[in-house]
Amino acid sequence: MAGASAGGIGEAVLDSVDRRLLDLLQRDFPLNARPFAAIGERLGLPEDEVLARVRRLKSPAKGRLIRQIGAIFDTTALGYKSTLVAMQVPEDEVERAAAAINRHPGVSHNYQRDHAWNLWFTLAVPPGEDLDTSVQALVDQAGGYPYRLLPALRVFKIGVQLDMEGAGDISPAESAQGDRATPAPAPSACDRAFIRELQEDIEIVPQPFAGVAERLRVSQEEVLAWLQEAKAAGWLRRFAAILSQRQAGYVANGMVAWRAPEDSIEKLAAVAASLPQVSHCYERPTYPDWPYNLFTLIHAKSKGDCRAIAGRISQATGVTDYAILFSTKEYKKERLEYFVPTQEVMTSKSHSLYAEAQRYMPGGVNSPVRAFSAVGGEPLFIAKGEGPYIYDVDGRRYIDYVLSWGPLILGHAHPQVVGALKEAAERGISYGAPTALETELAKAVVEAVPSIEMVRFVNSGTEATMSALRLARAYTGRSKIIKFEGCYHGHADFLLVRAGSGVTTLGLPDSAGVPQGIAQDTLVAPYNDLPAVDRLFGENRAQIAAVIVEPVAGNMGVIPPEPGFLAGLRGVTKAEEALLVFDEVITGFRVAYGGAQALYGVTPDLTCLGKVIGGGLPVGAYGGRREIMAMVAPLGPVYQAGTLSGNPLAMTAGIETLKVLAQPGAYERLEERSARLADGLRAAAEAAGVPVFQTRVGSMFCTFFAAERVVDYASAKRSDTSRYAVFFRAMLANGVYLAPSQFEAGFLSLAHSEQDIERTVQAAEAAFAGLEG
Ligand code: PLP
Repeated sequence: MAGASAGGIGEAVLDSVDRRLLDLLQRDFPLNARPFAAIGERLGLPEDEVLARVRRLKSPAKGRLIRQIGAIFDTTALGYKSTLVAMQVPEDEVERAAAAINRHPGVSHNYQRDHAWNLWFTLAVPPGEDLDTSVQALVDQAGGYPYRLLPALRVFKIGVQLDMEGAGDISPAESAQGDRATPAPAPSACDRAFIRELQEDIEIVPQPFAGVAERLRVSQEEVLAWLQEAKAAGWLRRFAAILSQRQAGYVANGMVAWRAPEDSIEKLAAVAASLPQVSHCYERPTYPDWPYNLFTLIHAKSKGDCRAIAGRISQATGVTDYAILFSTKEYKKERLEYFVPTQEVMTSKSHSLYAEAQRYMPGGVNSPVRAFSAVGGEPLFIAKGEGPYIYDVDGRRYIDYVLSWGPLILGHAHPQVVGALKEAAERGISYGAPTALETELAKAVVEAVPSIEMVRFVNSGTEATMSALRLARAYTGRSKIIKFEGCYHGHADFLLVRAGSGVTTLGLPDSAGVPQGIAQDTLVAPYNDLPAVDRLFGENRAQIAAVIVEPVAGNMGVIPPEPGFLAGLRGVTKAEEALLVFDEVITGFRVAYGGAQALYGVTPDLTCLGKVIGGGLPVGAYGGRREIMAMVAPLGPVYQAGTLSGNPLAMTAGIETLKVLAQPGAYERLEERSARLADGLRAAAEAAGVPVFQTRVGSMFCTFFAAERVVDYASAKRSDTSRYAVFFRAMLANGVYLAPSQFEAGFLSLAHSEQDIERTVQAAEAAFAGLEG
């Protein structure tokens, strides 16, 4: 058995201080304002070093020996009902059944085991939900195979702590709370809020409870006092680190099921519970085809050790009828999240809303990629967004990396934006006459974006690019346009030529309904291919009005410009007296406050904006040098107008968003968190042996399921989209909402916390692991 002799990856790199630290973290995490300083005092280390060591032990690069540090709550004490379920699934259906079961947020463990009862999972439902109904629905969803309910009748031992300092044994954890003299009180709404926050992994910073306090809008002292109350109430079992048993070298996990005569149950339970390698011991009901009534879970460094321990228990108790079921595949192993809104998948409101939507709108959606056709399944219908999260109508919460396809760089429902919008709406929604708000946003845009001296607001990115190119044609007196393969500039007829985004996803190189004559003036070059651009100019001398480009391609996944590409475009357009148009609908105020042109130091003639400048409301803009913009009506002859352009609500959302972004440190924070996410995703894929090409520019990122570098549309299209679909669905099942297509960008917001990123990377580790082989 790998790891049996070396003791696992984690152990190989641990020094004796790490070991003492791990033992302390598992047993006695100090519940005070500076816990890492307190641990440091006990170990004779400065706080900084403790923090550095804990970060190292938690890092994916080191195998994430510490899985989590947080509050461990008692499921029963919180009023949850739970059960173990054994299923008999035909061998070739196990994967599918396991995936269906995993979609339920109340399933925390799901293993394949080497027995006729081959799929074993635990399900917990919150107070008020009926466990039997939930199990039945879940079993139906999984394929309706035979199953047995095995709830715990008596709990003799629960919990596990790995002894890192000693001989590598597992030390006894606390016994169950089930035998408390008085039942735990029901947590109030306020207690539930504390539980929701405190069950999350803490931040590894000097004052980890400060962030929790801030989110709960209480003081740190109140958080710490609540933890003590929760302990007294029986809700909190302990506050501690949980280690990865596998990384610590405990690679064998054997569930031993005993057929213990009635009068031997207690004796067997006592013997088993006294053994450090036994982490859990329960009495469960029996059935004619499942006669075992006592369950012990054994963790050891090899299957042989597991068998030997079971043999010792048998000898000591005289109970000889038992079966050892080893896990052959781990489909899910995570902590249950308490009091997050959860619902049954199969009574999904999303499903019925989608069915109804399809009756009234083409495909049930108002923009094609939303329909999930690239990844399979059905779209989620969203009930609300809050910070980095969206909640679907079934009450499930997801960490959102779509962010309305990019605009929500502050996260959902940012209080400053929402507050200002409420006030603006009270003053009237639209006047169709000038307001000071338009000038305020225009000024902010002009000051931020190097190429823009004057700007015109419109209502979408599509309007912005369409109008900018009309202007470019008028200014140059030429009609041809060069665009790049896989770049999407909205759905104006003449730009729907080898476009990316939904067009890529849907496999439409072009759109029906676009007359040949309209598309013929649009020339196409591969992205990052300057010689191709030179060739097009050579073949169309003095006919090309403009080159339009996404300075970071964001509609065929995320593809950064190769060094020199943007500067090369600047050079050739200048020489050929054509205009260079940057479509910064995605990148504007996203990759830097001044957009990609500020980041790469290349100034175009015209710039298109959208998304972030509207803070989530429909806004687009195009702007550039005064002399060019002076051609726009009413100053000049290029007609362009909009009933709702520059309306006060849209301007307000944009102004407030830019105000927050202009604060010092905003982009540094986005950069740091995005780097951590992209690095984590790459490392997770690598650890699972899944070939990916991870790209990122600022807070835009993409994980291409491709073995080679992705630099243009052709290489992007070589990605394994079916693998992406599986990955996407696994991430969704684990509460992470990625773009429902390989060819879209992922976005981060200022609302995404370090914990959100950690949780995302953990979900990715599980999702990639599921793709192995
Ligand atoms: N340009 C780029 C680079 C885009 O990504 C998009 C939309 O995603 C557009 C233009 C079109 O913007 P809208 O969807 O607001 O019309």
